[in-house]
Formats: sequence, C-alpha cells, structure tokens
Amino acid sequence: MYYNLLPSKIIIRLPCRNQLNKSGGTIDVTAVEGNDVFHAMRARTEAQQTLARILENAAAQETTDVGIVPQEDGSGRVYFRENQDLAVPGRGVTTLARDDLGEITRFLASVSGANPDSVRIRDPKDGQFTFRDGKQEIFLRCSFIPLVPPGLDQERISISLRLLPKKRGLLLLKDLNIDSQVEEEIINVLSYSQGLIVLAGATNSGKSTTITAFMGEHLKRYGIAKKRISLEDPIERNIEGIIQINAASEDFPRYMRALLRHDPDVIWVGEIRDEDTAEICVKAAISGHLVLSTVHATDTVMAYRAIASRVDASRLFDLSESLAMLIGQRLVKTVCPHCSEKRPPSQREIDDIAFYLRMEGIAGDALPEEVVEANPHGCEHCKRGYRGLAPVNEILPASRQVKALLSAAVPDHKEIGKHRTITMFESAMRLVRAGRIEVSGIPR
Ligand SMILES: [Zn+2]
Repeated sequence: MYYNLLPSKIIIRLPCRNQLNKSGGTIDVTAVEGNDVFHAMRARTEAQQTLARILENAAAQETTDVGIVPQEDGSGRVYFRENQDLAVPGRGVTTLARDDLGEITRFLASVSGANPDSVRIRDPKDGQFTFRDGKQEIFLRCSFIPLVPPGLDQERISISLRLLPKKRGLLLLKDLNIDSQVEEEIINVLSYSQGLIVLAGATNSGKSTTITAFMGEHLKRYGIAKKRISLEDPIERNIEGIIQINAASEDFPRYMRALLRHDPDVIWVGEIRDEDTAEICVKAAISGHLVLSTVHATDTVMAYRAIASRVDASRLFDLSESLAMLIGQRLVKTVCPHCSEKRPPSQREIDDIAFYLRMEGIAGDALPEEVVEANPHGCEHCKRGYRGLAPVNEILPASRQVKALLSAAVPDHKEIGKHRTITMFESAMRLVRAGRIEVSGIPR
C-alpha cells in the first residue's frame, strides 16, 4: 500500500481487491475510509439501518456467520451460526420484508465489491467489506448465490456473511484453553530458528486464532530481539510487535518474495493455498526463517500431502527437510458448566469408542465412569447448553523418521500415526474426562 500525500486530499492506492480483475492493478480511493466500509452511523436508509442492527446483534451474540435466505413469498429469513449450529436469532431482526431484502441484497453486493456495477446477479459472487460502529470493527466475507434460474422475474439471492471481528492485544495459548501438553510442545518448537510449522484444520476450525497465539507466545518470549512479519487475509487482530500485512491470498507469493528481503526471523503466512506460496514457504524455512502457516486438511498427514501436492517433485526433499512440526486442529463445543448434567456413558457410546479404536488400530483409554451432557434448554449463562469452543489437537513432530515416512510414495498412515506425540483422540478424551465436552465431541 502506498500513501501519496497530495495538497488537497489523501489518495490511498489499494491493491485491486474489490474489482473482478484481481491481476494486481491499483484503484484510487479518494477518502481515508475506503468505499468498502459500511459505517452504522452513516446508514442512509431504513433497510441499511436494519442491516446495521442485524450485524450489531450478530456481533453481540458472538455469531460467526449470518445467513439471509429468501423465502417463497419474497421475504428473507435471518440465521445466525452460534457455537457451530445454525439458529434463528433469539432477539432482534429475524425476518426481512421483501423490499428491505431486495435493498439489503443490492447494498451488500455493492459495498462488498461482489457486484460493483449493480447488474442482476446471475452467477455466484464473493465480496468483502468492513463494518464499523461506535464500538467495533468487523471484517465480513460475503457469498451470494442466486437461487432462481435466469429468466424469472424475481431476483432471489441467498447471502452468507462470515464475521471476523477485529481484536487488539496479545493472545496467548492459555487464552485458547489449549491442552497443556500441546502448549508445551508448541512453545518448544517456537524456539527453533528455522523450519516450517504447519497447522491443519477444516474451515472454521480456529486456525488463524491459534496461529495468532503462536505469534503471541513468540513475542512474549523473544520480544524485540526477533523480527516477525505476518501476511494475513484479512488481519483479524492488531498485535504490537508484529509487522502485519493485510493482503489477498493470491498476492501472498508476491509479498513473500518482497518480505524475504525485509530481514524477517519469523514469518506467518495466512494459508498455503497454491504452488507459489508452498514453494516460497519451503525456501524461506530452509534458509534461516521460522515459517508458520495453515493448510486446509483434516489431519497432519493429509496436511503434508496437501503441501507436497503443491511443491514441484524436485523440491520434495527440501519440503521434508524444512518441516519442523505438523499440528492438526478441530474445534469442539464445550458444555456450560452451570447447567450440564453428569451421567454414566451409554452402552452405545462405549461401543462406538471401542469400534473407533479398533478401526484405527490405536490404543486409547476407555470412557470415564461419568460423562457430561449439555442441557438442551440451557440457562442464563449459555446458549442451549453450550458455551464456547475448545481446540482439540494432534501433534506430529517432524523427526528424521517422520520425514522419511512422509516422503514415501504412498505414506503409511498407521506407521506415521505412531509418531504423533498426542492424538486428537487423546486430546479430546482429556476434555471429556475434565467434564468440558460431550462424548459426541470426540473426533471419529
Ligand atoms: Zn447453561
């Protein structure tokens, strides 16, 4: 981003994120606040004010996603995703009149850059914008899918908004309620001066929050003696002591090449999605940098496979050499400590766990004598019996043996699995024993 100070106004040259053309051109935005910002105080119409109320309510409820789904009669239903489940908001706006829905759809499509020319939406579109009010700033990713085939009169667009509230300050591993053994192993690997640390998980598995905590731990331990640079899409938390770059993921390779000349010690790359990013991460990790990144994969072995598929065959040796640690993560709903109930595990639960252990060929503890169950009616402290999410992790340190096993043409999952120092099963079972999650939260 370049700032050019002109006598009469400030021009910010932004990478061309809001245009359909993502080739890297620039656009001029003749205001400090970009045209991809929706400010609640500046909502001009009633429909925009309604939208602001929905977003404020969603933020207050710690909703991760808002869905606006058109109904048969042309009105719209509002859904919130809370604690991983969809629900109609308990209060506030739950339905939108036909006209409001139309206006909100057009407004969102325009402010997010999904439909800058305000033409009829005939194909799925994506966009993003920032919502601000007096108290907070939320980054939103938007997805628009037309439901009615072209040719029919009425425009019906299903909208999904992912909310990423912007936070400030240091986040540490203990703030995530991460398993103590996992915490210890991560703090140990963060002492390395070089190598690639990969966190694997599905969408919405809290990967960027966890990496933010890795950076927080590094900052707490090594302070200003080390230079940390992050490449994020988008920045979810402002952290002093880290040079944070907000960039679209397709621009990561370009930024990576530049920041390698910027004398970093630790580089956090939002996600390894393409070949260029994978290759540069490997190159950085074998040339004296600690590189932290995430991959969309279900577990540590699949994470390695995902990165390997993005690296040229001639660089596979470099990849396995670069690896320091692979970490898998899932999020599990935690029960409310105020209204959950204890009971003995059912025979079905006992059989399910035994079956899983047999299928995986792993040893594991049996269920404790008492397990918790959420109270579906909930109480004043929770939503339908659940309160928050806890990470469940597996850890695969990249030892010599593991590197050799991973590099095999057809990796032996079972053999590699034996080198995990903690499995998702163990990590989840500890939470079951602590009475924090239900048996159904054990990954199977
Ligand atoms: Zn409760």
